[in-house]
Amino acid sequence: MPPHSTQAPQDPLVIVGNGMASHRLLEALLRQPARPARITVIGEEPTPAYNRILLSPLLAGELERDTLTLRSAEWYAEQGIELILGERVTEIDRQAQRLTTDAGRHLAYGRLVLATGSRPALPSLPGIRLAGVHAFRDLNDAATLSDCASRGGSAVVIGGGLLGLEAAEGLRKRGMAVTLLQRAEHLMNRQLDATAAGLLEQELVGRGLEVITGARLAALEDDGQGRVAAVCLEGGRRLPTDCVVVAIGIAPNVEPGRAAGLAVDRAIRVDGYLTTSDPAIFALGECCQFEQHTYGLVEPIWRQVEVLAAHLAGEAVGGYAERPSATRLKVSGVSLYAFGPTEPGEEHEVLAYHDPDQGDYRRLLLREGPLEGAVLYGDTAPGPWYFAQALAGRDLTPCRPALLLGAADADALLDASLDASLDASPKPEDSPTQTRPEKEAA
Ligand SMILES: Cc1cc2nc3c(=O)[nH]c(=O)nc-3n(C[C@H](O)[C@H](O)[C@H](O)COP(=O)(O)OP(=O)(O)OC[C@H]3O[C@@H](n4cnc5c(N)ncnc54)[C@H](O)[C@@H]3O)c2cc1C
Repeated sequence: MPPHSTQAPQDPLVIVGNGMASHRLLEALLRQPARPARITVIGEEPTPAYNRILLSPLLAGELERDTLTLRSAEWYAEQGIELILGERVTEIDRQAQRLTTDAGRHLAYGRLVLATGSRPALPSLPGIRLAGVHAFRDLNDAATLSDCASRGGSAVVIGGGLLGLEAAEGLRKRGMAVTLLQRAEHLMNRQLDATAAGLLEQELVGRGLEVITGARLAALEDDGQGRVAAVCLEGGRRLPTDCVVVAIGIAPNVEPGRAAGLAVDRAIRVDGYLTTSDPAIFALGECCQFEQHTYGLVEPIWRQVEVLAAHLAGEAVGGYAERPSATRLKVSGVSLYAFGPTEPGEEHEVLAYHDPDQGDYRRLLLREGPLEGAVLYGDTAPGPWYFAQALAGRDLTPCRPALLLGAADADALLDASLDASLDASPKPEDSPTQTRPEKEAA
């Protein structure tokens, strides 16, 4: 995409949502030489933005609530940012460039940023609205789940992805008897292959978690007083429980953008400058869709923020471009790192290393030289190095023999191969690259 610059800022800039994307955008705008003079932020949650990622260690009792706070309300005032909390934007009048909140407040905007995130997706299941059925999205949910944990008893977590695992492990650590239900045949099936998922399951089961894969939900059973009593599976199995946590995925918060007539597909459609179908309105984070992509991790959102902050401040900036993201799990004592396809295709060469005694596993997917995917379980230290190689599209053929050993050994071979290719009269017998000299010459 070509570099692009905007016209002079148009105030006031109003940001809807005070979550992670909104907060990061504010910090980035304040670093710009020409920040918009008047900024208002409206968030539905009652507290200023906090680090949502840390809800998992908070639930597990590993952190105090205060450590999640990103900036205090005073900070917003000091920066000349108007902060309105506890109000939900319900209507956008694009003609009049005016917002309305559920408290009846009206606000004019020059430019508008929608950073409304997403909400937990709920399965259509009998009993899903019963008391005792919870999500895990915000501070309120974390407090509710902490209350459940403090009463002890049992919990069923629905969803064996990142969020479900973190919720299940958090509740288990707090003393609950937890059963984790996963519809797919193995845990984290969107990130891990069956071997790594098996190691993960073995570790969690060893800690006392019950894991049921291939689980098909039938209904949530009412205790007769509107409270969940059990989770029933197809086939007749019944799991009595005191509480249920639903973590099957997220649904982008596209209202009120959709009601205002913005182009919405799975989320609010944006171009590379995070501009919606209305040039005065932008969207970023989990509520937006760029090309066919929607978001659930912060890494791409941080890159969106950099583009949008520069664009809103009138700086020349290249547009946002999609690129792969890597996944980590935040369960203490479990280390895994993954990116790229989970299963090899015919085009892939698979390199794998597995030490069952040490609980160490690495599997790399190469496609004619460059790395396309990796799953690391146990020692994940080289994960970021593998990811960097994949992003760079680097031909790793010269270091193939050492690739599974990690960055230091592989880099040594790559350096040696570079030296050899720079040497006018290379001595192939001394060079580890001798197996593929023709590639290096190219
Ligand atoms: C428990 C948990 C653990 C996670 N762990 C990781 C992790 O390890 N790594 C990772 O990359 N990502 C993780 N994520 C995901 C990450 O938190 C999100 O990708 C990120 O928060 C998205 O930022 P956002 O601003 O788009 O949405 P949010 O942070 O959800 O912010 C949106 C805000 O907008 C508000 N809002 C919505 N509608 C309106 C409205 N109409 N008016 C006013 N306000 C509104 C919402 O109340 C919310 O406060 C985790 C998420 C959770 C829940």
